[in-house]
Amino acid sequence: MSTNRNRTPTKAAKFIIDEIRNNAVSSIQLGVEDFLISRDVPGKTNRAISAARNIYAGVLLLFKYKIASLAKTPEQAKALIYKPVSILPSITSTGGITWYPTTHGQETINTSMIRARLDSLGVSHDWNAILPLRDCRNALEHLHPTDPISSIQASISALFPMLSRFITEELGEAPAALLGDAWTTMLATHDFFKECESQIKSEWTAIDYPESAMSFLRQCCCRACYSSLLGPMQEDVQNEVPIDTTDFRLQCVACSQTESAMEFLEDSFSNLHEDPFEQIEPSIVQECSSCQVQMYLITDSTCHWCGHETVWPKCSGCEKPIEQHVVNEGGRLCDRCSEDEWMEHNR
Ligand SMILES: [Zn+2]
Ligand SMILES: [Zn+2]
Ligand SMILES: [Zn+2]
Repeated sequence: MSTNRNRTPTKAAKFIIDEIRNNAVSSIQLGVEDFLISRDVPGKTNRAISAARNIYAGVLLLFKYKIASLAKTPEQAKALIYKPVSILPSITSTGGITWYPTTHGQETINTSMIRARLDSLGVSHDWNAILPLRDCRNALEHLHPTDPISSIQASISALFPMLSRFITEELGEAPAALLGDAWTTMLATHDFFKECESQIKSEWTAIDYPESAMSFLRQCCCRACYSSLLGPMQEDVQNEVPIDTTDFRLQCVACSQTESAMEFLEDSFSNLHEDPFEQIEPSIVQECSSCQVQMYLITDSTCHWCGHETVWPKCSGCEKPIEQHVVNEGGRLCDRCSEDEWMEHNR
């Protein structure tokens, strides 16, 4: 008799657990099939939505399977994967309030509960790795990108290392054995995406694009299809269009959309840092005094296009940033402090 007999789930518990495992695997496999159809069958690109939905659901089920497999009895397994009994108030016939427990629900634990249980049970996972997939699913459901394939590729690629580790270390299985052909597709997608990424990076490096501009570009997505695969426009590279002018274009590798690299970066930078509904003077994003690109951030005194660092003038009264023209005219105070000073002198 095995010494860890206590850890082996009973037949009934095993039934529930195996069912979750099968559902997890088939959900991921279905999702990968959807992905292949959306990529390879003309007119079926919208299958990308069910690809993202199924793969996301499948990974959550795989987490749930791990949680359930820590149970020794069917009761424990149920308690681990169903929502806990909650207590709700109701009005009695005499107008008082009474609390009654709801029956054990048919609802299984939701996403945030899965995460909390993984943490409290000490199961190692990398939750951040599934976020691109969740965001991709949300984007596909609510927006209408022209080329959804690339966003799925990006999220499968981000998911891949985590899934590989989780299946091997936490489930003690071989990913290829568990997921079959789906795993081969995921592996190829991951490698393909990584190759595209490094190809693009070397293209930017080859034309000496500034390091800081490249690192900001990595956080940006194509406006048309939300792909992060944005490379330098080869035609402009060949024609030696200067990279520090607005004429130099970037091109989305996924959907071929082109636009001025500089204008795209300036727009994305402003969208990230500035709130169009809140007017701050001076504006937090300024033109860089070295490269004249509108990507100088007052808060870290750095230009995020050329990397130039210079301290922005601050009010000698309250330390808040002040307008450049005030300094040019010999001023050292913000409007408010100079008003206060004027009042002080003219009392
Ligand atoms: Zn695109
Ligand atoms: Zn600059
Ligand atoms: Zn001031």
